[in-house]
Amino acid sequence: MTFDALIIGGGHNGLTCACYLARKGWKVLVLEARHLVGGAAVTEEFHPGFRNSVASYTVSLLNPQVIADLHLAGHGLRIVHRPMSNFVLLENGYALRVGPNLEDTVREVARFSQRDAQALPRYYAMLDVLADELRKWILQAPPDPNRGLGGIIDTLKASLALRKLPLEAQRDLIELFGRSAGEMLDDWFETDVLKAALGFDSIVGAYASPYAPGSAYVQLHHCFGEVNGKKGAWGHAIGGMGAITQAMAKECARLGVTIRLNAKVARVITRAGRATGVALDGGEEIHARTVAANIGPKLLFNQLVEASDLPDAFRTRMQRFKTGSGVLRMNVALSELPDFCGLGTQQQPHHGAGIILAPSLDYMHRAYEDARTTGMSTQPVVEVLIPSTLDDSLAPPGQHVASLFCQSFAPQLPEGENWDDARDRAADLVIDTVTRFAPNFRRSVIARQVLTPLDLERTFGLTDGDIFHGRLSPEQLFASRPTLGYADYHTPIKGLYLCGAGAHPGGGVTGAPGHNAAQVMLQDRQ
Ligand SMILES: Cc1cc2nc3c(=O)[nH]c(=O)nc-3n(C[C@H](O)[C@H](O)[C@H](O)COP(=O)(O)OP(=O)(O)OC[C@H]3O[C@@H](n4cnc5c(N)ncnc54)[C@H](O)[C@@H]3O)c2cc1C
Repeated sequence: MTFDALIIGGGHNGLTCACYLARKGWKVLVLEARHLVGGAAVTEEFHPGFRNSVASYTVSLLNPQVIADLHLAGHGLRIVHRPMSNFVLLENGYALRVGPNLEDTVREVARFSQRDAQALPRYYAMLDVLADELRKWILQAPPDPNRGLGGIIDTLKASLALRKLPLEAQRDLIELFGRSAGEMLDDWFETDVLKAALGFDSIVGAYASPYAPGSAYVQLHHCFGEVNGKKGAWGHAIGGMGAITQAMAKECARLGVTIRLNAKVARVITRAGRATGVALDGGEEIHARTVAANIGPKLLFNQLVEASDLPDAFRTRMQRFKTGSGVLRMNVALSELPDFCGLGTQQQPHHGAGIILAPSLDYMHRAYEDARTTGMSTQPVVEVLIPSTLDDSLAPPGQHVASLFCQSFAPQLPEGENWDDARDRAADLVIDTVTRFAPNFRRSVIARQVLTPLDLERTFGLTDGDIFHGRLSPEQLFASRPTLGYADYHTPIKGLYLCGAGAHPGGGVTGAPGHNAAQVMLQDRQ
């Protein structure tokens, strides 16, 4: 069979792209290196009887149009809200509760500062306006005046649309792209733990201090989602993140998309400057009219494409494309719930929250500085999420699974050290850190799975363990993702497209790059 499109990688964006193409009658083959589809959005059994979303672990950014178009609810996807958004631990045994509603948070913040309680609704309203602006750009290629007349018209339209925003909102937007989250939060608030709660997202997957310029955008990137219509909320997919991609795989099956597992692509085949297929690891060649890469630009252009197929300047840009999230991901099986703040091990709303162990922005800054010099901090930043409190399909009755998402673990360790040797030391550090805040934690751990930056690369093909396929910094976003002139899912090779998180609008379980790439591929065929 000759295919209209081959898709390299069966991550959620590859599956989304496949579905949109198949809806228009294309014959599509998805080639996935692993034994299951889903990429970083998978549920796996990491210890007998204990299953978890082993990499990405919480849902918000998945686009509602993608959910509807791919009939994900019809294929069994159910997303539930957290009973509380965040529970941020202080060193003195107290905590700040965020959510579930604004009134709850304002009341809670007032215990720390009346001034901050008054400022908070204005701060959220400012973010809402900007997130709404961002939402308009999620499901379309970003305007780029370098892409012909259409690009120039799109750019003009975009700047005119921006001018419709009140002047204050325009100023906020510009600030958000250039400023650090820390500086911005210091301007708004005085309470350290509140700033930590709001600023945590600015360092997620960024391997940066919250005081790094541009980190304010990373924070905004985490705000454009929604759960069941509630904007900005984060929730849990029943069955774990794999429930999202399994539902997508069902839609693929319904539309006649072929999926091949354990099919690692070794290189893209080209003829006269055009992609004509791929060669698998074992040497098998498969041909198609077009090829879409769900893998990151650095992996694609530096390893799967012949250097001679690319213009030198483009190749150099892709070699320099910044990757490396500096995250360590652990999954733990627990005999009981953690006893935070002496509140006990009986399930309470805070057990269903994103539990943040990083009491201040300074703490996050120090953790990053330590990681830069020694590879990891003795006081790392950890978010604990215990999905089994919302979902009884993940652990045996009475027991639990937790995701530990840990920031500021250097993508590459200092000279002479490697992640295979440092894995257990890092994991012990994380367990010790959680135990500092919940004394019963260490003894409750039945089993642990540890994914270092190197493991994330080996397991999921994430270059330097980059969870977003490339840094979310201003010079790698919008018209510059992956580089100026190629943000519309095309590449310098005709018939080869990017359809993963390395393309606009970037990382997260959104479905957006997959959707957008498919629209461009369909348009090109007309
Ligand atoms: C630890 C971690 C935590 C995260 N937490 C969250 C979160 O809570 N919420 C959120 O929204 N986002 C989160 N993210 C980010 C999000 O998961 C990713 O940005 C998103 O999954 C990217 O999707 P994708 O489909 O573009 O690529 P991927 O999910 O990376 O999929 C790419 C696919 O390509 C396959 N592949 C690689 N090389 C080859 C090859 N040579 N041949 C064939 N197949 C190949 C891979 O196996 C993989 O299946 C997290 C990511 C990680 C790693």
